[in-house]
Amino acid sequence: MGEFRIVRKTASERKVIHRMAKHLAEPRWMVYPTAKRSEQALVRLGVTAYELLGGVARHERHQTWGRAVLKAREPLIDQRAFRSAVVFREYVTDDARLVLANLRDAAAQGAVVLNHCRVVDLRGDPKASAVQATCNLTRRNVTIGAGAIVNASGPWVDPVRRMEGPVDDRLILSKGVHLTLASDRLPVNNTVTMPMPDGRTLFVVRRGEATYVGTTDTLVDRDPEVWPSITDEDVDYILRAVERTFDVASIEPSEVQAAWAGLRPLIADGENNPGEISRKDEIWVGERGMITVAGGKLTGYRLMAEKVAETIRANAPVSVGTSPRESGYLPGGEFDGEVGDLAAHISQQHNLGIHTAHRLASLYGSEYDDILSLGRDPICPGSKIIDGEIVWAIEYEGAATLEDVFYRRTRAAWYEPNACELLQPMASIMAQHTGWSPERVEQEIAATSAVFRSELSFQAA
Ligand SMILES: Cc1cc2nc3c(=O)[nH]c(=O)nc-3n(C[C@H](O)[C@H](O)[C@H](O)COP(=O)(O)OP(=O)(O)OC[C@H]3O[C@@H](n4cnc5c(N)ncnc54)[C@H](O)[C@@H]3O)c2cc1C
Repeated sequence: MGEFRIVRKTASERKVIHRMAKHLAEPRWMVYPTAKRSEQALVRLGVTAYELLGGVARHERHQTWGRAVLKAREPLIDQRAFRSAVVFREYVTDDARLVLANLRDAAAQGAVVLNHCRVVDLRGDPKASAVQATCNLTRRNVTIGAGAIVNASGPWVDPVRRMEGPVDDRLILSKGVHLTLASDRLPVNNTVTMPMPDGRTLFVVRRGEATYVGTTDTLVDRDPEVWPSITDEDVDYILRAVERTFDVASIEPSEVQAAWAGLRPLIADGENNPGEISRKDEIWVGERGMITVAGGKLTGYRLMAEKVAETIRANAPVSVGTSPRESGYLPGGEFDGEVGDLAAHISQQHNLGIHTAHRLASLYGSEYDDILSLGRDPICPGSKIIDGEIVWAIEYEGAATLEDVFYRRTRAAWYEPNACELLQPMASIMAQHTGWSPERVEQEIAATSAVFRSELSFQAA
């Protein structure tokens, strides 16, 4: 029953996020290929239940494609293995940019937001009334007093809880790996799901000139890391899934353009199969009063925030609002139509190539104009990334390192071809705006390309 509630709430929340920021939660048709009629019936049953629970509008409800339609619309799907498909509406979310949009929105409402600042200890006894934090860039320490302290550190929730004193771990971490290929190596027209014999489902998603594929789901028995390593097994699992689903020549690990791994913070429930562990969220109040929020789904973040606010009201001497704003837009979210319409408008109005325009629309939404006013020259010949984006990232999105710009602001690392060639021009523009010395520029490039290479270290074998 609890799982139904999670599905219902997250399904309807996705629509709210899409209303607030259409560019960050983009509706796409998701193609689920099926081999047999019985399988098709089962998938339709699940999708129908999901649509009813989530209140999906009639025109957005699923379709079934027979063999001829499947062949016409997704010709690459192996027609010998799959005779039909169930096609349903899903939202593709840009997680890092959704977080940024919320942080900027919070700052606009008066919040003070710190980047690269790590909480290292709690202050106050018996109740914690401040955190001690260290700036990872300057190494300066600060003590920040607070009426309520909320620990929302994802996979790091348990290490932060231990700052209150000895506690048992409550999280279990599951690694998810994605691989990026050139889109012409796997040219899908829609988002395609790949049902696996072990019961998992992987996704193939087109994004500009890239197609990314993922994800794995394997338990990790060690401390959380920002960049968990990607093994040959992870890569093999994903590439074999592609071969099972598509009629394509075997893809070699050396063809992978970029890769990344993340850790899902799941609440331990005694289940050992990561796919079976509930994606529920929970809130715990620690001995010294710190409120921890853990688990959950990204798209359920507003509901989790609401529960955190209720817990603060019940436990701490501070006043907080009653619920997240229902109406209004996140920064960049206010425009007519969908991302494709906005991209066409930008391309026409500003005489830009459609790929550059589409990038601007999907990353920045209605703020594209501000970016263009900061600079509209490609950062290097042939690039779709323009110099205004780098300036914007520094001035308005708190980017402080090349890694911030390359990975979490422009998303170039994962979705642009020959991404490492963009590091030098990006770093030069950053240097002009921040006064970085030539040595600092070299350090930033070396550090960021080391991260990029380490994610692809499976190619060295
Ligand atoms: C591969 C993969 C696929 C996923 N797919 C989906 C999906 O399809 N749909 C969905 O809804 N969810 C999905 N998720 C889950 C979703 O990404 C997570 O639920 C979500 O990111 C959790 O958000 P969070 O803010 O709690 O944690 P995070 O996003 O991990 O953020 C935690 C933050 O806390 C910071 N931090 C850690 N320690 C400290 C400290 N001491 N001081 C200060 N800051 C600290 C970290 O630097 C980090 O920025 C997926 C996750 C993974 C890994």
